[in-house]
Amino acid sequence: STAVPTHEFQAEVRQLLDIVIHSLYTDSEIFARELVSNASDALEKMRLLQLTEKDIFDEALPLEIRITTDETAKTLTIADHGIGMTRAELVENLGTIAHSGSKAFVNALKESGKDGAHNLIGQFGVGFYSAFMVASEVKVYTHSWRKDGEHLVWTSDGATGYTIEEVEGQNRGCKMVLQLKDDAVEFAKPERIKQILAKYSNFVTFPILLNGERINTIEALWLKNKSEVTEEQYKEFYKFAAHAFDDPKYTFHFNADAPLSINALLFAPSHNPEQFGMGQMEPAISLYCRRVLIDAKPKKFLPEWMRFIRGVVDSEDLPLNISRESMQDSSLFRKLASVVQGRVIKFLEREADGDAKKYAEFYKDFSRFIKEGVATDFENKETIAKLLRFESSLTEPGEVVSLGTYVSRMKEEQKAIYYQIAPSRAAIESGPYLEAFKSKGFEVLYLFESIDDYVVSALGKFSDKPLQAVNSSEVDLGDNNPDGQTLSKEDTETLCAWVKEKLGTRVQEVRAGKRLVSSPSMAVVPDGEMTPQMRQMMKALKN
Ligand code: ADP
Ligand code: MG
Repeated sequence: STAVPTHEFQAEVRQLLDIVIHSLYTDSEIFARELVSNASDALEKMRLLQLTEKDIFDEALPLEIRITTDETAKTLTIADHGIGMTRAELVENLGTIAHSGSKAFVNALKESGKDGAHNLIGQFGVGFYSAFMVASEVKVYTHSWRKDGEHLVWTSDGATGYTIEEVEGQNRGCKMVLQLKDDAVEFAKPERIKQILAKYSNFVTFPILLNGERINTIEALWLKNKSEVTEEQYKEFYKFAAHAFDDPKYTFHFNADAPLSINALLFAPSHNPEQFGMGQMEPAISLYCRRVLIDAKPKKFLPEWMRFIRGVVDSEDLPLNISRESMQDSSLFRKLASVVQGRVIKFLEREADGDAKKYAEFYKDFSRFIKEGVATDFENKETIAKLLRFESSLTEPGEVVSLGTYVSRMKEEQKAIYYQIAPSRAAIESGPYLEAFKSKGFEVLYLFESIDDYVVSALGKFSDKPLQAVNSSEVDLGDNNPDGQTLSKEDTETLCAWVKEKLGTRVQEVRAGKRLVSSPSMAVVPDGEMTPQMRQMMKALKN
């Protein structure tokens, strides 16, 4: 339409649309997935509302998705009888970036600048706005489930803004009419739409009708037996449910009856988007009770550090008709969360032991989350710590060891798990600290990241063995030079006093030790003092 839009898009939306429309988007067909998934979301919300609300507009309409194609008019229409939208909701949901999917994209965009957009667009769902990749105009006809809602149509060409007008005779839900661009008329062909939807339409838990014909059979993949599901189906489900473009690194499908009934299908992605500087990932586990979506991606289900896990948890024990708020406070919710959390950790542990190479690939991108878990999850830190991997004085460069393996090969007289924090293997191996441990045959873990310092101090001990830095004054290795020549007590005292005088306030104390083999001296950190790494981090924070 040529009418001047009555509402302007928020600046971020305009920026997003500009890129969506003008990028050479190779995967434009994903718009169909986004719109079908929105219709499905709206229907899920409706299904849940029906359990608690009595006053619903068009109560009797079926919960289904109807798609119609018109090759002559070059239109594609996707309609649902979901919750629909009020005028205020149209403005909020289709005029601003208030929702998660495109928000992550816009955040990433801010980081990478416009030139990086081409790469980014392949990694994010841009949600509703993806319709403008293929449509020159989009109309959204809607009536909210609320009886006092208006009959409305939202219209936009995806440029600067949109109009909202009243239009008589709308049913509950949304009907999106896409006027296809000339180079996108293929999407008015039913075979093309069928082909696009084939991959995941069976994961939608509502009937999908294409020009009146049913095209899906409803499969709640997570309720199935593992043996009935193919690798390909898992992949497609992950992409559909998590709006993902990568393949899952790990797929974890489990069913349990006790202590709670749980059917869970969970995934770890291949790539960690937080690495691209896009801020924190949002938690993405949806809670179902016998296929009914109860809570999409609750924030407080799994602990923060597990926010990279995506998927579905279905439990018959979840109450269907209590409010989300009171559910999240319930002990059942917390129990379910803790069971799932435990299973995920165990699963990762098994994977790490079973296929170390695959785990190493995962660890490269996701070790941050695991370290965050050890540092923040006081109750489970030791279990999570089983997932940590470090290089050590006994591994080849690039190879790693777990704390469990470390402990299993500790020497009998060894009192602690020793580690050194330094930027590189070379830095550690050329320094003075290692020699005493080597001569005793004690393994030393090499910690290359500054956050490792927090991780080991939060952990404190593993398998009842304290973790000790090689440069801690607490380390007791006995006498490394039992029959070597030593200075007399008097000479030793004179030497120490002299060194202390020279170093002045830069050291707290200078004393003779028995640890070193061939180096003359080393600096150690007194118990309870900040380590050099911590000091560096504090300094960086102040600047
Ligand atoms: P997301 O689905 O990640 O929230 P989208 O860009 O896909 O983001 O959709 C934006 C919002 O528009 C949705 O959150 C929802 O509130 C609203 N919306 C989109 N499609 C529909 C629909 N078919 N029925 C009701 N609301 C919808
Ligand atoms: Mg969406």
